Amino acid sequence: MKLLAVSGAPEARSTDLLAYAVFAAADTKGAKGTAKKPAANKPKTLPPSLHAVDAALSGLLSEVAASEGFTGAAGQTLAVHTHGRIAAARVLLVGLGSADKLGPDTLRRFAGIVVKHAEKAKAKKALIVLPDEEGVRLEPSVQCAAEGALLATYRFDKYLTKDKTTSSVEVLEIALASRSKVDDALARARAVAEGVFLARDLVNEPAGSLTPIEFAKRAVDAGRAAGFKVVVLDEKGIAKERMGMIQAVAAAAAPYTPPRVVRLEYRPAARAKKGAAKKAAKHVVLVGKGLTFDCGGLDIKPADGMLDMKVDMSGAAAVLGALVAIARIKPDVAVTGYLGCVENGIGGNAYHPGDILKSRKGLTVEINNTDAEGRLVLGDCIDLALSEQQPDLLIDLATLTGACMVALGPSTAGVFTDDDALAEDIKRIGKRNGEDFWRLPLNEDLLGQLKSPIADLKNTGLRYGGAITAALFLKQFVDGRATWAHLDIAGPATCEKDGEYTPRGGAGFAVRTLVGLIDPT
Ligand code: MN
Ligand code: MN
Repeated sequence: MKLLAVSGAPEARSTDLLAYAVFAAADTKGAKGTAKKPAANKPKTLPPSLHAVDAALSGLLSEVAASEGFTGAAGQTLAVHTHGRIAAARVLLVGLGSADKLGPDTLRRFAGIVVKHAEKAKAKKALIVLPDEEGVRLEPSVQCAAEGALLATYRFDKYLTKDKTTSSVEVLEIALASRSKVDDALARARAVAEGVFLARDLVNEPAGSLTPIEFAKRAVDAGRAAGFKVVVLDEKGIAKERMGMIQAVAAAAAPYTPPRVVRLEYRPAARAKKGAAKKAAKHVVLVGKGLTFDCGGLDIKPADGMLDMKVDMSGAAAVLGALVAIARIKPDVAVTGYLGCVENGIGGNAYHPGDILKSRKGLTVEINNTDAEGRLVLGDCIDLALSEQQPDLLIDLATLTGACMVALGPSTAGVFTDDDALAEDIKRIGKRNGEDFWRLPLNEDLLGQLKSPIADLKNTGLRYGGAITAALFLKQFVDGRATWAHLDIAGPATCEKDGEYTPRGGAGFAVRTLVGLIDPT
């Protein structure tokens, strides 16, 4: 889909679908069904941005809006055929709800709704007009609208041999009130969408085809295309690094699908300015759990719990997607990613409950549940990362615990960190990006649950507080060597149903927030 910013009167442009965002009027507070409804026969006053198009249509828009009870409530839409009275074939009004709730994600959703509507109408060209409310900053607004439009066109249809539905929208134009340079905003939206699409593709790909070897290959391809270095450790390299926890988890599947640890390196170009060269760029390390399939191991999962376990690599997918976007945006920040790509299988070589593993860091770990494998893979990856790099910030991402979903529901990720400012940043930047994060306590009192009489640690604690003990386990491998946050994305990594710009399946969750954290706009 081609993205263009255009200026001039929107109602004078030739397009298949001309879409406007409309806020709920202040006097229709009850439109969401809580209190009073607006009088149906009282024509709603359309906002100033629609006066010109309404006049060109001889008042048709305000008439239909009144008769259909269009109030601008969030998600409400109204489509009108123009029958050639203006250059656009159709006009679409999209309700955004109350103006005081306007945020960046409102614009993503708006653009997503427009694209879906355009696809339904088989429109090839659509033109969207951003709301002209006060406080709407142009560049970020254009970026968010462009992101929402692009993200809404995503499909995972490579395995469909019929009923493929490619997006009909070839050109999306964004109308600006004046001629402004928004090329950077559009380019950034493209970069972010490319990263999210890659992450979604990886999450959606079945475990039978996305093995650790294939994951590493895709990382190499992505690095070549976007311009960052990729180094792959195979099973021999992993053995050489004495990553004993990864080796144990991988053992059962290793004869067929051996593990890979992948390092991704984005480095900013040498700084031209004098003085700047002396100060090293900020360095962020990202570590992602890449369990290409998790059957639970000998502590095997029931069928229900195993069904969608191809998505257990969503943390690694988010890290790779973020690196792709970052390499395109080229911020002045060094970013290193580590992907722990492993299959937790079952077979004669499987690690056992009761086994004691020696981690790369040297800590011994008694296994009391082979299904708590993600923290073992992450523990070794975090230790490798911190022995190779000295980051200012380390963030790990993982579909780590069902307990986190029990605590926060399916659409919110858990944030665990001792750094209050970092926790706030992640929440705030996540919100801007339409990704919901909530902080949970790293309560050290629960560390006792991980005590083992025969090893340095056990790999799981009790059922209550399971997301916290998982984070505390990881903390032992960070061991104070970096400012650190753990993001448990078990819930929001996938969507159960289609959203405005996120289709059912892999969400590519956390790519946008990571990009926003690394390169704030
Ligand atoms: Mn597991
Ligand atoms: Mn897992």
